[in-house]
Amino acid sequence: RIAYVNGQYVAHSEAAVHVEDRGFQFADGVYEVCEVRQGQIIDLTRHLTRLDRSLSELKIASSMSRTALTLVVREVLRRNRVKNGIFYMQVTRGAARRDHFFPAADTPPTLVITAKSTDPSLMAKKYASGISVITVPENRWDRVDIKTVGLLPNVLAKQQARDAGAQDAIFVDRNGIVMEGASSNVWIVAADGTLVTRPAEHGILRGVTRTTLLDVTEILNFKVEEREFQMDELLAAREVFFTSATGSCVPIVAVDGKPIANGHPGTVSSSIRNAFFDVAEKTPI
Ligand code: PMP
Repeated sequence: RIAYVNGQYVAHSEAAVHVEDRGFQFADGVYEVCEVRQGQIIDLTRHLTRLDRSLSELKIASSMSRTALTLVVREVLRRNRVKNGIFYMQVTRGAARRDHFFPAADTPPTLVITAKSTDPSLMAKKYASGISVITVPENRWDRVDIKTVGLLPNVLAKQQARDAGAQDAIFVDRNGIVMEGASSNVWIVAADGTLVTRPAEHGILRGVTRTTLLDVTEILNFKVEEREFQMDELLAAREVFFTSATGSCVPIVAVDGKPIANGHPGTVSSSIRNAFFDVAEKTPI
């Protein structure tokens, strides 16, 4: 495997950043994950737009034009022969002597791009069986709309889920309002058939998959409401599912050990998932 690190293509096993990198020292960096399917990058423009937004919110300079970044991404995918898989773009404020204050303005940001192939049949199994999740109290800062590499609460939540015999976790705030998954957005099909997902102004990451699925639901003429919802509405829902670039649309069949509806994946999430690839932007490698 090959990784791109600060201007160079290097063996993945040797790829490294400096010990003084601010990503390592302070989690002072942002990232994006994108899906590659059938040789096409999914929703690249939306991911690059969100990357720019995350960088500007943290006042990190973009180190590369979009055109150049796209060229590098394609090269990494080609060198790794990825046809189905994912790639990561990670940008930090660069390496500088440890000091909380921003380093000198001429400190170059660190840019890392890695890619790996994934097995579509493993995802297909998840879609067929659905996953079980636990809920955990929301304990993150209030700027999770920025996609930073500071993911400790998400790491702890996922591990807690695994230790409990579940696959993933949902953050719920102190008032019982459903926030999002540890690496996905949450949707429900309410008792009256309406699709509901919480607004993305603040408090959650505005998922690219979420945005594209909103396009899908419009085309399929589903009734959708962007509003907050509580845990009791989720537990009474006909369907619950996650959306993310790595999983597209994953049915959730149990929450905290309680089955959702009949405990099997529903038809709404599968029809949305089936239409997703057609509607999403596709960039050939
Ligand atoms: N929320 C969180 C916390 C995430 O980490 C992710 C995955 N990157 C998402 C939502 C889903 O975002 P996207 O659809 O852009 O992958």
